[in-house]
Amino acid sequence: LNRRLAEFGTTIFAEMSALAVSTGSINLGQGFPDTDGPEEIREAAVRALRDGRGNQYPPGPGIPELRTAIAAHQERRYGLSYDPDREVLVTAGATEAIAATLLALLEPGDEVIAFEPYYDSYAACIAMAGGTRVPVTLRPHEAGDGTSGGRSFRLDLDELRDAVTDRTRLLLINTPHNPTGTVLTREELAEIARLAVERDLLVVTDEVYEHLVFDGAEHLPLATFPGMRERTVTIGSSGKTFSFTGWKVGWVTTPPALVSAVRSAKQFLTYVASGPFQYAVAEALALPDAYFEAFRSDMLAKRDVLAAGLADAGLEVFRPQGTYFITTDIRPLGETDGFAFCRALPERAGVVAIPNAVFYDHREAGAPFVRFAFCKRTEVLEEASKRLKTAW
Ligand code: PMP
Ligand code: GLN
Repeated sequence: LNRRLAEFGTTIFAEMSALAVSTGSINLGQGFPDTDGPEEIREAAVRALRDGRGNQYPPGPGIPELRTAIAAHQERRYGLSYDPDREVLVTAGATEAIAATLLALLEPGDEVIAFEPYYDSYAACIAMAGGTRVPVTLRPHEAGDGTSGGRSFRLDLDELRDAVTDRTRLLLINTPHNPTGTVLTREELAEIARLAVERDLLVVTDEVYEHLVFDGAEHLPLATFPGMRERTVTIGSSGKTFSFTGWKVGWVTTPPALVSAVRSAKQFLTYVASGPFQYAVAEALALPDAYFEAFRSDMLAKRDVLAAGLADAGLEVFRPQGTYFITTDIRPLGETDGFAFCRALPERAGVVAIPNAVFYDHREAGAPFVRFAFCKRTEVLEEASKRLKTAW
């Protein structure tokens, strides 16, 4: 293994899901739902397979039906207009979109600013592209942004400004944010946009949890801010929104020159992927608003079940405004090391969770935080809560 990748080892998600299976634990680690997405969309995939649509290589940029549906979705939800032929690229999940974008845009030695804790593939992809990551730490603040109550992880805008150097090539943003559940506010996004314009930076924004926002928080795509559309690569995915994480259909929306750059890398990663599923996702994106609203309120109910359960078990809960993850502080249980806690958890409680420290360069800043996924059936969340409560 080369030096660029050696530090990353096996992804925490694979490690923890294997641990859940080998110990028979409830898996609240890796973020995937335990209920599949809509029946009619599964049927659409079956129809595509049966009718021979997508069983051979689909077009490199993605099938036209899906590119049109992605553009229509951005227009309908956010008033963002993208040309399906020149400004949309279908990828093998958001994971490939992230990899191809960073491989395409970074020169060796370029600095990338990302908020830590960050989704684990960011660090690995920056490294594979020869870039240098510059973490800006989100820290717990009292009162959050006022809509959720309690503490939430927030960005220090001065720290972000100070992190920009003449080597900074791009800002890598993620909102709603995995693992903290933070949704960046209009003011925070406006500051990020101002900084990007002022310092002439590219922005890559991972918005895969765009449909999972709660408590009156609003998902605002960075590309909607002044001066941003032309410098922003927006990444989306069907995996989260439609509960088909195994289908791996993601996308990029961005101006033609950037699509073309990302495609240059993408064509040598997978070339294309997920043929029949592209047809099904095109139908999914056109589902009525009622689908998205029901999905959101279902996840909100699950969040409240697990948040109550974790609090009852003695953990401090950072009530997430977005995503399907809850970050907790384990110190009220007398524990300080999230790694040790997560390693002991299957044996002690029959539950698997993720130590947030894996998402930090400054590991000590993330040490007492542990992430639990709530995209599971209510009875599973209740059983996990009960087990945690009796284990401490
Ligand atoms: N970005 C974030 C923030 C994620 O949480 C995930 C998935 N878990 C991805 C990207 C990857 O998405 P996909 O499954 O579409 O590759
Ligand atoms: N995105 C999911 C998570 O954060 C899992 C992704 C993966 O397994 N790579 O848990």
